[in-house]
Amino acid sequence: MKARNSSSGTQRKSPVDIIKLLTGWGKILSGHHPLLSIEITRECPLTCPGCYAYGDSHLGGGTTLRQLSDFRGEELVHRVLELVNRCRPMQVSFVGGEPLIRHRELSRILPELSKRGIHSLVVTSAVIAFPREWNNIPRVRVAISVDGLRPEHDARRKPATYDRILENIQSRRADISLVVTNSMTERRDYLDEYLDFWTSQPEIQRVWLSLYTPQRGEQSAERLTEAARTRLFEELPRLKAKYPALILPGSSIKAFAAPPQTPSECTFTRISAAYAADLRSRVTPCFYGGNPDCSQCGCAVSVAAHWLHAQKIPHAFGLRAGHSLKVSDWIVAMRNSRTKPHGARAEASRSKAA
Ligand code: SF4
Ligand code: SF4
Repeated sequence: MKARNSSSGTQRKSPVDIIKLLTGWGKILSGHHPLLSIEITRECPLTCPGCYAYGDSHLGGGTTLRQLSDFRGEELVHRVLELVNRCRPMQVSFVGGEPLIRHRELSRILPELSKRGIHSLVVTSAVIAFPREWNNIPRVRVAISVDGLRPEHDARRKPATYDRILENIQSRRADISLVVTNSMTERRDYLDEYLDFWTSQPEIQRVWLSLYTPQRGEQSAERLTEAARTRLFEELPRLKAKYPALILPGSSIKAFAAPPQTPSECTFTRISAAYAADLRSRVTPCFYGGNPDCSQCGCAVSVAAHWLHAQKIPHAFGLRAGHSLKVSDWIVAMRNSRTKPHGARAEASRSKAA
């Protein structure tokens, strides 16, 4: 499941752990990506309006997600583990389509990744219940996309309605993923009501928040206006204080307010890689695909990475994480210029990874 464009609150960590990402710097230096996103299937029983995964430009035009071949059974398990071996990530997000369509395969993949110390996040509409055993696998989390209060969500996401989600999370633990759209900021107390409802559910541990990220030139009802963004940024500190389960890492509001202007300025694109359902095509420049308007990027993880960019590295003589990423870019570029034939880099970033 892919959101349009995450109580009883126990753990409250930033989506990207600074120490782990700094460990990941070594992986970036060796040409790997600490964060991997996999569209594990092209199938989804929902038809949410505005779903970017099925948009014509998601894979850069030409081919769409529905036209790709995808895998199932033993072959899917084998190919995903092979991709993980190649990319050597620290965390893998499984999106779709609807990942739970492949829950049998995921029940084999997730324990395998956990054994290797890799964290996994499955992002779902919860139209299907996920296996309870997943909650007992270390380093595995499930995030359910809920697009607003019951009337708006149910209209968009039927059959993955509030009632269906509540039924399907019984005796389980999960997180909620919320993408804030313009209308949610227009009604006073909308987000308050939303957070009050979901953080009161005993099964819900954390709420991941991101902002609707439009494509360049997009004019839609979901896109946040400048006034809406301002209202939201004023409201978020109060909501975070009232609902500790809301994930909002330090300084992230400042980062939300000043996102990168282009993919080339985006820290997240340097530490992540996204693959479509054929497990070969790369989704670029980030998991949104197409031509996202970075100046309005609302991806929580990208924002956290942006925040990380300015943090000082402990015991590094005042070096900031951003410096280390620039150094790693330079080293990887030098290595590529010595070892890759002309055009190989463009080819690799365009599409076929294998
Ligand atoms: S549930 Fe399916 S249709 Fe809806 S946003 Fe996710 S991938 Fe798109
Ligand atoms: S800033 Fe980065 S994560 Fe956000 S839309 Fe642009 S490329 Fe994607």
